[in-house]
Amino acid sequence: QSVIQTENISKIYRMGSETVEALKSVTININKGEYVAFMGPSGSGKSTLMNIIGCLDTPTNGRYKLGGQDVSDMTENELAEIRNKEIGFVFQTFNLLPRQSSLENVALPLIYAGFNKYDRQERALEVLTSVGLGDRAYHKPNELSGGQRQRVAIARALVNNPSIILADEPTGNLDTKTSYEIMELFQRLHDEGNTIVMVTHEDDIAKYAHRVVRMRDGLVETDEINNDITRVG
Ligand code: ADP
Ligand code: ADP
Repeated sequence: QSVIQTENISKIYRMGSETVEALKSVTININKGEYVAFMGPSGSGKSTLMNIIGCLDTPTNGRYKLGGQDVSDMTENELAEIRNKEIGFVFQTFNLLPRQSSLENVALPLIYAGFNKYDRQERALEVLTSVGLGDRAYHKPNELSGGQRQRVAIARALVNNPSIILADEPTGNLDTKTSYEIMELFQRLHDEGNTIVMVTHEDDIAKYAHRVVRMRDGLVETDEINNDITRVG
C-alpha cells in the first residue's frame, strides 16, 4: 500500500534571471511501513524533495500523491491541513518551543487538530511516556539533554498518529551514543508499523534503514534494499 508516490517531479527555483533545477525528474514509491534513508551530497536535492514529500512545497512539474491523494496542486492552506494530519516532522535542531514544557510542546499539534485540553494532556503524556520521558513532562527544553530533546520532538511528531515520520538529519546535533539511542527508538517505531523517511549523510545512521536512496544532481542515483540492516539491542 503506497503512502508516497512521486511521478517525474521536478523543482525549478527562479532567482531573478537565474534558474536552478533542484530536482530534475524523480519517480519514487514508498509503501506503508517502509523505513527509508535518503543520502547524497550537499546540493543534490534532498531537502527540496523532503519539502515536497512533507507538503511544505509543491513540485514545478510532475505529480505527488500522499496516501493516494494528489497534493501537487493544492493551495497553502490545503497543504497545511494535510501536513498537520499526515506528517510528523523531526528536525536536526529539534525545533522545540523554549518556554514551553515537554508536555506542551508535544501537545501543540493537537491544538490545531481541535482536541480539548484534557484530551491533549492525556494523549501527550501517553506519547511522552512511550518515548521514555514520562518523568520529564514538566521540564523545559533547556532542562533536558540533546537526546531527551530529540525524543520530545519525536513524541510531538507521533502525537497525531501521522502517516509518515519525516526526519531531516535527526542525529545531526547528537553525539554518537545518543545518536544510537535515537536510532533504537526509530527501530522500535518501524517495528510498530510506522513509515519513516529520514535524510542523513552518515553511513552508520543510514544502515538502520531498510532501504537507501542516493541522490545526485537532482536525480535518484541508486535506490537499494539494505541487506545488512544494523539493529540495536
Ligand atoms: P540538499 O538538501 O541535497 O543539500 P537542496 O535541495 O537543498 O539539496 O538543494 C538543491 C539545489 O537547489 C541546490 O543547488 C540549491 O542551491 C538549490 N536551492 C535549494 N533551495 C533553494 C531556494 N529556496 N532557492 C533557490 N535555490 C535553491
Ligand atoms: P536543518 O536540517 O538545517 O536543521 P530544519 O530541520 O530546521 O533545517 O528545517 C528543514 C526544513 O523544514 C526547512 O525547509 C524549514 O523551512 C522547514 N521547517 C522548519 N521548521 C518547521 C516547522 N515547524 N513546520 C514546518 N516546516 C518547518
